[in-house]
Amino acid sequence: FLKPIEKINALLELYPRGMAGFARYCELMDTEPDVKDAPDAIVASRLRGDIAFERVTFGYENHSHVLKGVDLRVRAGETVALVGPSGAGKSTLCSLIPRFYEIDDGSITIDGIDIRHMTQHSLRSQIGIVQQDVFLFNGTIRENIVYGRLGSTEEEIWDAARKASLEQMLKALPEGLDTFIGERGLKLSGGQRQRLSIARIFLKNPPILILDEATSALDTETESLIQQALEELSHNRTTLIIAHRLATIRHADRIIVVTEEGIEEDGTHEELIVAGGAYARLHGAQFAGTTVPLPV
Ligand code: ATP
Repeated sequence: FLKPIEKINALLELYPRGMAGFARYCELMDTEPDVKDAPDAIVASRLRGDIAFERVTFGYENHSHVLKGVDLRVRAGETVALVGPSGAGKSTLCSLIPRFYEIDDGSITIDGIDIRHMTQHSLRSQIGIVQQDVFLFNGTIRENIVYGRLGSTEEEIWDAARKASLEQMLKALPEGLDTFIGERGLKLSGGQRQRLSIARIFLKNPPILILDEATSALDTETESLIQQALEELSHNRTTLIIAHRLATIRHADRIIVVTEEGIEEDGTHEELIVAGGAYARLHGAQFAGTTVPLPV
């Protein structure tokens, strides 16, 4: 009886729906996952988060290759923004880091260790994923936050809530952290749900972060609260941002332009402006006051 529940829990945590068309829940329930732990897989201790793709080739089953021989290095603690046309493979590239899919060729290492040599659990416990489609269950705010790390203390939960810009909201609720959410209680807005998921990740405290930026518009205040929380969250962590708007990119150490041909540009904001390529055109258009939505 417990097995399927454990499986559901693991899936909800590890296979968020929004990213790169993660295999659908039902499919996963019915079939064995393609990605399996190697018999001699190691339990990775805390990683620093130095990520290296070497000649990585990947295609979804029955589809031609989405990524062909991609080389990419993201150093520990670095923030890298991925921009590019829809369908170029930004989400796919990110979903290979937690090993949601098996690559066809090349290798992905973290701190020099091939991710295929780590247990999936120990790998994924070091990666936090923030995306638009937040999974919350019917329960209290406290239960939903503590899901990030079961057994967290009251102080740790409040600290995470504060860093995720949730404190003000919690103080305005008569039952605070013990307020029920979902069908049985408070209906949270999209921005509040996202901040709650950010609080969870503060508790989880992973060395690697993947941020799949919201495409839907949030009001300015919510937007700035989330930006603030995300900046704090990405501090001292290796962060990959799948960016849809230029505002987020300003804080990135590097910007990578992904197109169907592969990684077309890679550099700092200043370098890419000087290079005068795709990113510079996009930026120029925005600077001129024209609203050009990402992807380019
Ligand atoms: P967007 O900016 O729209 O999110 P993206 O750059 O993140 O796009 P991906 O979502 O990685 O692009 O998709 C890359 C290619 O892989 C696309 O052609 C897409 O249709 C295909 N694709 C994505 N997920 C799957 C899947 N689960 N099965 C088959 N093909 C997929």
